[in-house]
Parts: sequence; C-alpha cells; structure tokens
Amino acid sequence: MEDRPARTPLDEWIAGKIGVGRKASPFLSRDDLDRYHLEKLRGAVDYAKLNSPFYARLLTAFCGRDLTSLESVASLPFTTAQDIKDSPLSFLCVSQDEIARVVTLATSGTTGASKRFFFTAEDLELTIDFFHHGMSTLVSPGQRVLILLPGEKRDSVGDLLKRGLARMDVEGIVHGPVRDVEKALSDVVRFGIDCLVGIPTQALWMARHGGRGIPADRIKSVLLSTDHVPRAIIDELGRVWGCPVFSHYGMTETGLGFAVECAALNGHHIREADFYVEIVDPVTGLSCDDGEQGEVVFTTLTRKGMPLIRYRTGDISRFMTEPCPCGTALKRLGRVSGRLEGGVPVGKGHILTIPDLDEALFPIPGLINYSVEIVRGEGKDQLLLALYTGTVDNGGLANAARKAAMTVPAIHEAVTEGALEVSLPTFTETNPFTTGVGKRRIVVKE
Ligand SMILES: [Zn+2]
Repeated sequence: MEDRPARTPLDEWIAGKIGVGRKASPFLSRDDLDRYHLEKLRGAVDYAKLNSPFYARLLTAFCGRDLTSLESVASLPFTTAQDIKDSPLSFLCVSQDEIARVVTLATSGTTGASKRFFFTAEDLELTIDFFHHGMSTLVSPGQRVLILLPGEKRDSVGDLLKRGLARMDVEGIVHGPVRDVEKALSDVVRFGIDCLVGIPTQALWMARHGGRGIPADRIKSVLLSTDHVPRAIIDELGRVWGCPVFSHYGMTETGLGFAVECAALNGHHIREADFYVEIVDPVTGLSCDDGEQGEVVFTTLTRKGMPLIRYRTGDISRFMTEPCPCGTALKRLGRVSGRLEGGVPVGKGHILTIPDLDEALFPIPGLINYSVEIVRGEGKDQLLLALYTGTVDNGGLANAARKAAMTVPAIHEAVTEGALEVSLPTFTETNPFTTGVGKRRIVVKE
C-alpha cells in the first residue's frame, strides 16, 4: 500500500471544537464544516453589528438570518485595511479594559495612518490552541524549538508559540529574528534544537552561512512563516538539513496563526473553526471558483475583541481543488503568490513582484539575501540589486544574479522593450534585516 502522509492534527482538533467528534468517524466532513460555517457566520454578523459601531453602520441593511446559504455570504460588504486605518476603535466589540493586547502595524509608504488590532485574552487563547495543535505535525514531546520570531513581549507571536508548544511538552526557546547568524547557529547546538521556526531568508542565512556547523540529523523540521515562502528557499533548507520544511500562512489580522501545512507539504490547512475563507476576484469582488487565483478574504467566526467580516487581505492565493493526500476534508490554500499592492509596473505594464525575484535569485548558491530598487529614468528605468552573501569572495555571483533576474518574465519583457536596464548587481556588507512584520518590498525611486 502506498504511504499516506499522516492526517493533519487540525482535523481532529477542529472536529472536537465544532462538536462532531463523537460520531462513527472522529473526522470532519465537508457537510459538518459547511453547516458550522453558516451558523457561525450568522452569529458573527449579528455580534459585530450589535457591538461594533463600524459594523452597526456597515451592516445596517443586513442581519444574520439573511444568510440562507454559504453563497449568500457574498452579498455582505467587504472590510478593508483602510477601514481599520480610518477608525480602529470603531471595530471594538468589548470595553477597552477587556483588551489584552494591541498590535500597531506601521504602514509602508507615505499614506500615514497605521492599522491597529485588538485582542482579548480569549482571542489569544484561540491562537495558542492553534499553535499547539498545528505544531504537533512538526514536533513531538520532549523536543526543542528555536523560535526565530519576535517573542520578548507577552502575547507576541514568539511568546504565544512558546506557550502553545509547552502544552505538548515541547520547549520553545525564543531567540528572535536572526541578526547575528553565528549566535543563532551556536544556539541550535547549545540548546539541542530539533526544530526551527522563522523567517525564510533568515533560515536560509543559517543554512548557507554555517548549516554545515550543525551536526547531521540535528534539525528534524523547519517551519517558515511570513506572507511569501519562496520555493527556492524551501528546497535549499531541505537539501542542507535533510528535513521536511513546512510553511505557515498568517498575519496580524488573523491573530497571527491562520493556516499551516500538513505532512503532505502541499498546501495550507486553515483554522476552519475560527475562520471562514473566500477567494475573490480582486477587481470585481466576485467569488472565484476553486482552483482559481484571487484575493484571500476571511471572516472571523469566534473572535470577541475585534471581529472582521469579509476582510480583504490583499494576498493572492487559491483553494486547491484536489483533496489533500492526508485525507482531511479541511480546505487547502495554495502558496501565497504575492500581494496586490506589492507589484511594481515595468515596461509596458508588466508587474514585477518580490516573489518572482525570490524564485529567480535564491537558487543561486551563496546568495543569502538581497534588496531591490527600481530607479525611474527618462525613457528607461534601472533595476538595481544589492546582494548579501556574508563573504568577501563573491566570485561570479553578480553576473549570475543579473542573468537570473533577466529570466523573470516582467524584467525580460521590459528589457526587450528597451524600457528597463538591469545594472550589474552590487554587494552589501549587511544582511537587509526584517522582523517578518514589515514585508520585503521593491523600492521605487521616481
Ligand atoms: Zn493535508
């Protein structure tokens, strides 16, 4: 018999949470989930409308019982990031005394206002519970996880993850984002780390800088998180450490945790007890068919502090159509292929994105990170790459990177049209640092 990957632990966890775990089969069916979603969506609409000034206005013409099917959810208006920037407090459904954590996200660019998100202790508990069950795919009791994400503050992502892991007798050691790669590598050995959780480019740094310094079989699994996890980095980490590399998709808006891969390593299973997810056409706002790429839109089903109804994430993904080989009825989100606002037009309207550059550049041996700029010029733009390799001996890397960049369709087209020039990449002595909150982006100089 063919080896089937273990069913995602989220299946039984969610079955228990939505109260279907005591039937003949302990596992979820799509019917169970659909029924649950419709009931919770009705409740979420009424709760938000009753308790939040923003939704009292937005949903004036709606109430929960108007939702007669999951299709009818598409009649509800969207919530956007701009709505939150305009008036974050108007989303609150509880008194401010009941808020355990506030997260402020500064916006990139010059548009000013930042987004603020409010979570009650109960909301945070749902995330901890998800981390606990989601991580049980990667680690087992007695193991240790090095958390390469911000975690100093109470209720920060690293702290919530550490608390989730503790519930299955796994020790989480909060290291924080990697600034000093030698220290991160020595911590792996010093603490006897079995699993790494971190930002893709920083895990790549560890692998390419000194992955060799880590004993074989030391690292047994890796979880990468942030909006875009490049395939090229997944492949390289798997090659260097010989272990499965999982990907998680989440954001502050989703309470940090959202969707994670199972042992099949092919698509993210969603916390479907806590979220109802749709994929919509970013232009028309109409629902996409399963399999079709579109914008990820979610509704919180269990959140108390600041529920969100049909929130437009700006991320592009799709529902995978084939059932997961792990056997669950939970949906799978494909890899996030970019953000709506992250693309930069070059040449005759070709859109260049960081994910496209990532896939072209990261297979180059020795490359650890890069930053990119488009300088707009009279008639011709310039693409400038600054490469970080962590070594002075860069060999032919600049040429290799320029050649690889030219394989990105948007760049290739714009260069062919005579509208773009790719300069010979330069080298930077410091690794462009991110905490995973501010996404890497293409800088445009007009
Ligand atoms: Zn699966």
